[in-house]
Amino acid sequence: MPDLMMTEIPTGMELLRNPFLNKGTAFTEREREMLGLRGLLPPRVLSMEEQCARVLESVRRKPTDLGKYITLMALYDRTRNLFYRVIEENLEEMMPLIYTPTVGQACKEFSHIFRKAQGLFIAAKKRGRIREILQNWPYKNIRIIVVTDGERILGLGDQGVNGMGIPIGKLCLYTACAGIHPLSCLPVCIDVGTNNEELLSDPLYLGMQNRRPRGQEYDDLMEEFMMAVKDVFPRALLQFEDFGNHNAFRLLENYKDRICCFNDDIQGTAGVAVAGIFSAMRMTSRKLQDQKFLFLGAGEAGTGIGELIVSAMRDQGIPEAQARQHCWFVDSKGLVVKNRENLAEHKLTFAHDHEALPDLLSAVHALKPTAIIGVSGQPRTFTQEILEAMARYNERPLVFALSNPTANSECTAEEAYRWTEGRAVFASGSPFAPVSYNGKTYAPGQGNNVYIFPGVGLGAIASRAGKITKEMFLVAAKILAEQVGEEDYQKGNIYPSLTKIRKVSAVIATAVANVAFERGLAGIPRPDDLATYIRSQMYIPQYPAYIQE
Ligand code: NAD
Repeated sequence: MPDLMMTEIPTGMELLRNPFLNKGTAFTEREREMLGLRGLLPPRVLSMEEQCARVLESVRRKPTDLGKYITLMALYDRTRNLFYRVIEENLEEMMPLIYTPTVGQACKEFSHIFRKAQGLFIAAKKRGRIREILQNWPYKNIRIIVVTDGERILGLGDQGVNGMGIPIGKLCLYTACAGIHPLSCLPVCIDVGTNNEELLSDPLYLGMQNRRPRGQEYDDLMEEFMMAVKDVFPRALLQFEDFGNHNAFRLLENYKDRICCFNDDIQGTAGVAVAGIFSAMRMTSRKLQDQKFLFLGAGEAGTGIGELIVSAMRDQGIPEAQARQHCWFVDSKGLVVKNRENLAEHKLTFAHDHEALPDLLSAVHALKPTAIIGVSGQPRTFTQEILEAMARYNERPLVFALSNPTANSECTAEEAYRWTEGRAVFASGSPFAPVSYNGKTYAPGQGNNVYIFPGVGLGAIASRAGKITKEMFLVAAKILAEQVGEEDYQKGNIYPSLTKIRKVSAVIATAVANVAFERGLAGIPRPDDLATYIRSQMYIPQYPAYIQE
């Protein structure tokens, strides 16, 4: 247990108030006697299994998802081991509550439902004192930091300091899915203000009530933060989360070689989408080099996926310039082409020589792609006409509707199957219920980043990697695709079942750590048996025995 030594075990109420040590009703008779707990708990001693059943009953009884979220986060504050046991054993039920979509609603309500600090808030007005603020965090052995500035929270836009729910939720997934010890996780929200009028005029809003600064002022603050992290938590991996795309690409570029960091919206999404592509290739016995990808949306997710596809093709011997010709983008102004003016930096390398086209439909007809990938945040943009055209040009069209939440999906699973006569290889960003079409039931998979970032994070921190590379995400994508079984393919699912996530994360972590060792990026000697070493680093949510019976 990092940071908390058994010799420091407090007693009485102080013990019950420490979420990392508290066992609640599971303290044994002898522990109650010896640790000053007599009378502070109801008399009956429960096992952890009985406690899990009580929690599940109380969560399920809440009529709203936000109510369930609040119940779960109250448990998080009281008894972290029990919280993780409940999450881990019921991941499919709990993930939509502790993460998207419910966490989005929780962020919107954050200032109104805030109860207790669960992470660090760094306000821009504290410039010059960020190191000191980081030192206020009570746990010192921090290995993973998830940081946001709240500017582009899920599909909800600028949520300012209310975005804190996202780093907290992401770190819950690191622990539940890859066994990162909860004491090693630090959620951070950088509060530079907000441009959200509703929040600016909400008297209960808890963040700074000024507009967001841009340019040098913002960059200087981030530089101070990044250097303070390096100094105070030198063994930490930092994940950028839900930054606006005008900052996200620049921050990643500035820091990727100086600090062990990555951006999940760009690189994690790329990993899971490319895994889906590899898996679809396996499922349909096709080759990557024969594919042409057409993206709707050329932001963090889209160009991140495009870059990793290029890496995957280069890995297969295709020259970079040629690989880029396999990836085409349509954004809000139409097809991204060379002669368009004022193209953002991240789109330039995907701007090809072609006449301007106004929209996705015209681009599908002109380019005849084998795959369409929706990362635009625009609902119902994979129309019947577009999907029918994809089915006309392809035996098995790849249709990835990755925009979140469900209401923003470019098409539903049902539409994807119906309008392609059941021939689409479909994946979505948000989950869809199984679909019956022409006597067959399809249970398509969710291209959820949770398949990638926990494993990459575990591999990086276990090997003490000095940096996170594109190769690590490519390896993670390949390994993830290999975890998909025939039983998944039978259902039309190109991802493995979420019930296998801890095993999947361990295998990905081993492969990522292997890259760190092979490339000289690791900070420890290579263990003899890397897979066993990785598994030994994974936290298991269970109670320690404080007093031997
Ligand atoms: P972003 O803001 O960086 O990019 C959005 C892009 O969509 C921009 O290029 C914009 O020009 C384009 N766009 C907007 N309206 C359009 C329209 N009408 N037609 C065509 N293009 C349009 O956002 P992002 O981080 O890239 O995220 C985009 C979407 O992808 C979000 O809905 C997000 O939820 C989703 N996403 C899904 C996953 C996943 O499923 N694993 C991961 C990350 C992001």
